[in-house]
Amino acid sequence: MSDHDYVIVGAGSAGCVLAARLSEDPSLRVLLLEAGPRDRKLEIRIPAAFSKLYDSDVDWGFRTASQAGLDGREVFFPRGRVVGGSSSINAMMVLRGHRSDQVAWGPGWSWDDVEPAYARSEAVFPRAELGDRNPLTDAFVEAAVAVGIERCADLNAPPGEGVGFVPVSQRRGRRFSVADGYLRPALGRSNLDVVTGAHAEELVLENDRATGVSYRHADGRRDAIATREVILCAGAVGSPHLLLLSGIGAGSELAAAGIRPRHELPGVGKGLRDHLANGILVATAGAETLHTAESIPNLLRWLLRRRGPLTSNVAEGAAFVRTRATLAAPDLELLFAPVLFEEEGLAPPSQHGFTLASVLLQPASEGEIRLASPDPTAAPVIDPRYLTDPTGHDAAVLLDGIRLARRIAATEPLARFVTQELLPGAAAVGEADLVRHLRERSQTLYHPVGTCRLGSDEYCVVDAELRVHGLDGLRVVDASVIPVLPRGHTNWPTVMVAERAADLITRADSRHSG
Ligand SMILES: Cc1cc2nc3c(=O)[nH]c(=O)nc-3n(C[C@H](O)[C@H](O)[C@H](O)COP(=O)(O)OP(=O)(O)OC[C@H]3O[C@@H](n4cnc5c(N)ncnc54)[C@H](O)[C@@H]3O)c2cc1C
Repeated sequence: MSDHDYVIVGAGSAGCVLAARLSEDPSLRVLLLEAGPRDRKLEIRIPAAFSKLYDSDVDWGFRTASQAGLDGREVFFPRGRVVGGSSSINAMMVLRGHRSDQVAWGPGWSWDDVEPAYARSEAVFPRAELGDRNPLTDAFVEAAVAVGIERCADLNAPPGEGVGFVPVSQRRGRRFSVADGYLRPALGRSNLDVVTGAHAEELVLENDRATGVSYRHADGRRDAIATREVILCAGAVGSPHLLLLSGIGAGSELAAAGIRPRHELPGVGKGLRDHLANGILVATAGAETLHTAESIPNLLRWLLRRRGPLTSNVAEGAAFVRTRATLAAPDLELLFAPVLFEEEGLAPPSQHGFTLASVLLQPASEGEIRLASPDPTAAPVIDPRYLTDPTGHDAAVLLDGIRLARRIAATEPLARFVTQELLPGAAAVGEADLVRHLRERSQTLYHPVGTCRLGSDEYCVVDAELRVHGLDGLRVVDASVIPVLPRGHTNWPTVMVAERAADLITRADSRHSG
């Protein structure tokens, strides 16, 4: 049994920020629980090696439920299970989205409200340019400009659209995760305890208050007591899962799953949105792609000088575009990787080539996380319900993306490297062929949000200060509270959420003690 002011569950992107920020006050005792191990693997450090972490001991290695919109496929759904969480296994892209995204977050979360939190994070978690960008990525940007997409020097600055090079979370050619930026410098503090290999199984609830967390460790089951708050930072899958296991959710569904309902909150796990991606895969000649990056000379180059193709984050270029001129902000992202990203990244590239992926920025399809079993060690059901929106909006945007990607691939200076379109393949020209390709090949871009949505309607789980509705001593602070997908990627927005939460929590603290 241990006793702390704050018990934080999950040392991922959000948990690392909160543990570091809250423990800045030496009078507060903070405990950070993480199911996975320390982030010591070499593949975490080597940027281009991130897909080697898939299905490894630092990945939860989830699969979605069978997806009706994707030919019944169970989509590979990686999530970091390690200190740093998904920021230790991600593709390091630092793209926060469009300023207008904040409108849907409601009071307290406008752009003017969140901008200071972004600014604070930049001092700790800076973004960098790739040191050794692949020449094909330059050719992609020039070809995109040639088809009429505006060149953009900084994809994070207004207007939030156009084509450019992707900024990355790296320092001197190696991954710089949120754990590197925030947690590592705080580890020496005597008021911060970090326990790895600690799988939280249930919240301890006394009446309407969360007072601790029960977790499984190598030496058995332990309880951690929180005298002020329990803060869930277990991510868009882990946080709703733990709430449901603790009897917090839709009572009838909990009872049906074999869990005693404790607190009615029907939105827990609902509202899941994710970025769906679909690539055209193109074989090339005349360029050294990342197909040959994995070699002894390149490993030595990386080890000795932190240079060479192993410093690549793979997805090196991006374009944010509006598929219709009447839209106020981009609805499509094109991501360029100078390598064939095959079989959801689970297979090594078979030959030289590039991937130009269309990403659906604002999906209408909505899914959920639900219990598969009352056993806390069993994975929950992850059901994003990709491409199931009744109007067909989502497929239409991705089809526009495939057509635009093909135009760029056929335009100089990129076109000169192209030998053959491998997928969907030159024979796939009609809409039916392209829709078949969408259903057979689309994959996640790994950005689930919304499963503990912030706001005040019946399906919201936390209020504007990220406190769980109707319970004391309990907050959720991670990607699960993000109500709408950013027109960007989710890591930096999650860091922003945690920076802002730290501010809200310490301000509430000083109100109580003052
Ligand atoms: C392969 C991949 C590539 C990505 N690429 C990018 C990218 O390039 N750019 C970008 O912006 N975003 C990217 N993302 C998404 C981004 O990394 C996430 O949105 C972000 O890390 C989410 O942060 P989080 O704190 O919500 O969750 P996480 O960082 O996933 O942290 C949750 C933590 O909680 C722990 N946990 C869960 N359940 C329990 C439990 N019961 N007990 C104890 N601990 C628990 C987990 O092990 C994990 O460490 C990528 C994600 C993946 C998986």
